[in-house]
Amino acid sequence: ALTAGIVGLPNVGKSTLFNAITQAGAESANYPFCTIDPNVGIVEVPDARLDKLTELVKPKKTIPTAFEFTDIAGIVKGASKGEGLGNQFLSHIRQVDAICHVVRCFVDENITHVSGQVDPISDIETINLELILADLETVTKRLARVEKLARQRDKDAVAEYDVLVKLQESFEEEIPARAIEFTDDQQKLVKGLHLLTNKAVLYVANVGEDELLDAEENPNVQKVREFAATDEAEVIVISAKVESEIAELDGEEKEMFLEELGIPESGLDQLIKATYHLLGLATYFTAGEQEVRAWTFKKGIKAPQAAGIIHTDFEKGFIRAETVSYDDLAEAGTMVAAKEKGRVRLEGKEYLVKDGDVMHFRFNV
Ligand code: GDP
Repeated sequence: ALTAGIVGLPNVGKSTLFNAITQAGAESANYPFCTIDPNVGIVEVPDARLDKLTELVKPKKTIPTAFEFTDIAGIVKGASKGEGLGNQFLSHIRQVDAICHVVRCFVDENITHVSGQVDPISDIETINLELILADLETVTKRLARVEKLARQRDKDAVAEYDVLVKLQESFEEEIPARAIEFTDDQQKLVKGLHLLTNKAVLYVANVGEDELLDAEENPNVQKVREFAATDEAEVIVISAKVESEIAELDGEEKEMFLEELGIPESGLDQLIKATYHLLGLATYFTAGEQEVRAWTFKKGIKAPQAAGIIHTDFEKGFIRAETVSYDDLAEAGTMVAAKEKGRVRLEGKEYLVKDGDVMHFRFNV
């Protein structure tokens, strides 16, 4: 399963946020394939479409889809040189598919800041630099091996050599791999290097509990936004402290509290959705009288693979998938009505599954 790592300097609010995640956490009985690890929190993906389908179909139960956040212990300056927990930190980042970078924007005299003052850009750059340095080392090692072959005009080696040199030059200018333009073929080579700075990133601006409403006026949030824009990254504004309070509430209580705060959606819910997209994930649904359920897939897969997410037998024996888009089904009101309107399609093995598809798989056993 894909997972996103929560990263940030010490004392920025990572643990507070991570506690909110585990507190709000999904019932793991529904997700037997998820990792059981104290550093992993399973979150359910909020999806209004699932609520609407439940209303329409009235199943015995409804199961949202979920994914994992991994809490990555605080980075220290010099991680790329293997200082302190540095090596461990980097190897944990290597294992995640996307990075949620928590940045301290709240000011609190009582809580020490590692560099003495709240300075979001310098914080972001500290971490990004460690990741770039680690990647620089990866690339430099690889270059030493490829260079010789490239000189002998080995075609593959020459292609890789060009990519490595471009990476090396960019890293020296502190540009992360994800910001460098490559051709599709080159992109494949870059992927093979498993670089830390090639992972998708979003920034989580952690503001004080009393700053949530006019967070956009907070100069620290503005700085994070400016920085993120250069990185084409998204910014989610949260107050980790508030999130840890929200996480203790359920259903109605939660909605009332959000209303009091004057925000339509909790920061954590916003973060979950943004991270889900960042990971390149999308949702299809199954909707039967027993169960209405959301399933996560990686964009770009075909119908048989989507069926395989439910059960390998579904993929092996795949015949076709009765498919209707969520919008068409919601408009028609019932499956029968959607069929009468000709909105239910029979899709075969080559069908590219779309976000919001409601699917019923037919298969041989
Ligand atoms: P970590 O080292 O990044 O995991 O940071 P923690 O989550 O342990 O937070 C460090 C300290 O900052 C704790 O005392 C938190 O209670 C506090 N903290 C976290 N978020 C906020 C916030 O939004 N406002 C204030 N005032 N304090 C916060």
